[in-house]
Amino acid sequence: MRVRHPENSPLAAVLRNATKRYGSIVALDGINLEIRKGEVLALLGPNGAGKTTAVRLILGLSRSDTGQVEVFGRSPLEAQHRMRTGAMMQIGKVPETLRVAEHIDLFSSYYVDPLPRAEIMARAGLTGIEQRKFGELSGGQKQRLLFALAICGNPDLLVLDEPSAGLDVESRRLLWDQIRRLVHEGRSILLTTHYLEEADALADRVVVIDRGKILAEGTPAEIKKKASGKRIRCSTLTDAGRIAGIPGVTSVERDEDTLVILASAAEPVVRELLTLDASLTNLEVDSAGLEEAFLSLTRTNAQLEVAS
Ligand code: ATP
Repeated sequence: MRVRHPENSPLAAVLRNATKRYGSIVALDGINLEIRKGEVLALLGPNGAGKTTAVRLILGLSRSDTGQVEVFGRSPLEAQHRMRTGAMMQIGKVPETLRVAEHIDLFSSYYVDPLPRAEIMARAGLTGIEQRKFGELSGGQKQRLLFALAICGNPDLLVLDEPSAGLDVESRRLLWDQIRRLVHEGRSILLTTHYLEEADALADRVVVIDRGKILAEGTPAEIKKKASGKRIRCSTLTDAGRIAGIPGVTSVERDEDTLVILASAAEPVVRELLTLDASLTNLEVDSAGLEEAFLSLTRTNAQLEVAS
């Protein structure tokens, strides 16, 4: 049970009506985001949703075309605010031949108040492999080192872009524990993820984005409720397009002879299915998994865009 009340805390970072285009692609389309002191904000969305673009604006790595970006009340480009921010990016490139300890010492030297090396090693689960070269690390160990580099400056704001990509279950748990500890210490964390499960495990608030727009935002419980749905399977003569038009249906897919229908509620859709085809067979109804439910949320957005 989370007991923090970060809505009353000062802002660590904010995007106001931020738009970012790459040529004809609108990566962010008037996004508003607030990350408060002592909270984990999860930015949840599928590939290409605009998550990394939002992260890059907050880190001052690129500029928005319109709107405002502030970190600790100032431009993210100001060096003193960069000092208070740590980042773990998806494609973190560091020299392959430097050893783990050398990487940490080098990064720590950029900051005024770095954490002690032994503490960084322990927090990132790197103890014992201090002398290993980056190029010799496993994928998961590389991720841990990138996490270590993100926290070594003792940051007030930590930005983690898909930090658990490529981590095994144990490493992911270790990372989650460390994220919880950092936020418990009063730091602010912006986390991007494809996984509702990860957002649910860590975040105080979740913002779901797709195609540069915010689809939903709220606590993990609120988002799960919005995304929650039922999966209905059946064999029917009714056309899939007709079923897609039933109110509450968010997607229809064919799986061999069976139709797989995602819907916000089962009963009204099943009633309508039976009205359309009383000879319907192989009816099954269950709860859509979280991932599926989330996909249905983003698919609804895609359908709305097609329709509009
Ligand atoms: P993923 O989960 O795959 O990392 P994402 O949510 O982080 O995706 P972004 O990387 O922010 O998505 O990309 C948003 C959109 O902007 C995508 O359509 C992407 O192709 C496009 N885009 C991002 N960076 C650039 C760039 N430098 N040049 C052109 N298009 C870009």
